[in-house]
Amino acid sequence: MIVRKSAAEIETMREAGRISARALRLVGEAVRPGATTAQLDAIAEAAIREDGAVPAFKGYHGFPATLCTSLNSQVVHGIPSAGITLKEGDIISVDVGALIDGYYGDNASTFAVGTVSELASRLLHVTEASLAAGIARCVKGNRLYDIGAAVQEVAEVAGFGVVREYVGHGIGRAMHEDPNVPNYGVAGTGPRLEIGMVLAIEPMINSGGHEVDALADGWTVVTRDGSLSAHFEHTVAITENGPLVLTAE
Ligand code: MG
Repeated sequence: MIVRKSAAEIETMREAGRISARALRLVGEAVRPGATTAQLDAIAEAAIREDGAVPAFKGYHGFPATLCTSLNSQVVHGIPSAGITLKEGDIISVDVGALIDGYYGDNASTFAVGTVSELASRLLHVTEASLAAGIARCVKGNRLYDIGAAVQEVAEVAGFGVVREYVGHGIGRAMHEDPNVPNYGVAGTGPRLEIGMVLAIEPMINSGGHEVDALADGWTVVTRDGSLSAHFEHTVAITENGPLVLTAE
């Protein structure tokens, strides 16, 4: 069942989104060669708690950290560690969520560590553009799979692979609500988008094939062909005035 949110609920979710966005920005500002992913995790947790919120991922199905930090060919759900040090030329996907007053915010971004290859740079640009294309479809009366179709078009025209096994989701009083929001699909199909729906839209795009595998740690997902992967995410409300990005400061 897709839960539609009232204007007051969306206002609270705006706060959860703002806190999530601030944590992500502070992590992005700390990304540099020599930083460890555990240091980034500590920055995010401190920022979220400073804002009176709770890290949404920590303890979620046993996940041990505030951030998911996924390096290079890692797609999502990488675990921060004092033993993982960023190097010049890496790309790192950072996913972070916050819970406040009973509502969740969720966002992600992939950052370049110093100067990165032309391919990596293009992957980041295209993945962010695919998210923007998906968000632009978040308009009352459109269909749910219009979003994924728009994401897929941008990614595949660029020659990149769209991850199928992991998808976006409804969000509200639970971090993962109905509906699933795939990053692929046929335009003009799926449930109608209605005022008050709130969706976490999160393209995961590979520089090579779309296939992925989960590692033995039970969390980290990697590209099967070893190609790079990028991940951008916003929490978006469908309003009378069109898409409203809640994960913004
Ligand atoms: Mg999400």
